[in-house]
Amino acid sequence: MARYTGASCKLCRREGKKLFLKGDRCLSDKCALSRRSTVPGQHGAGRKSVKEYGLQLREKQTARRYYGVQEKQFKGYYVQADKKEGVAGENLLSILERRFDNVVYRMGMASSRKEARQLVRHAHFTLNGKKADIPSIILKVGDVVALKEKSRGSEKFKALMEDAATATAPKWLEVNAEAATAKVIALPQRDDIDFPFEEQLIIELYSK
Ligand code: SF4
Repeated sequence: MARYTGASCKLCRREGKKLFLKGDRCLSDKCALSRRSTVPGQHGAGRKSVKEYGLQLREKQTARRYYGVQEKQFKGYYVQADKKEGVAGENLLSILERRFDNVVYRMGMASSRKEARQLVRHAHFTLNGKKADIPSIILKVGDVVALKEKSRGSEKFKALMEDAATATAPKWLEVNAEAATAKVIALPQRDDIDFPFEEQLIIELYSK
């Protein structure tokens, strides 16, 4: 399935939740969901009752859109999560959080996951000192992401590095804003993820 290229705000309106897809705009009063919260489309305002399957589907779509992952890849993450020890839903979120693009976003080097994905593709970062330009790489404990030396001179990254210096990084990530590096020091736990996912619904959907 091709990547969605339409308006990001429509996805939030579809899910009825802020998915934080547009950086600073999401925190401002320009947020489209704050201004108009109905589901997009001609009959959007009239759609109300949602059955069990619908709830599970919507939760899966919410997580998929929040992390910017395509369906096939998302299902692959579920398969991996289900095989691991522990709670499958928590394993799934831990995998999604450790995607290369999400780590770049979490370390403060991009204003949204979409932008982080683009920056990774344009090879602005290294992984463990080597070139890496695949946003879907799942990082392991001990992996180190660094902004490339030649990218550090750009005004955009200088501003982001300044912001990152005062921001709070998740506790599973050791961020050095001055050096523009981040090291994965632990697996992300459920309470490290600040979005109110109901991940069990996603597992129920795929377990059918
Ligand atoms: Fe979603 Fe951000 Fe658009 Fe608000 S501004 S609707 S949070 S993408």
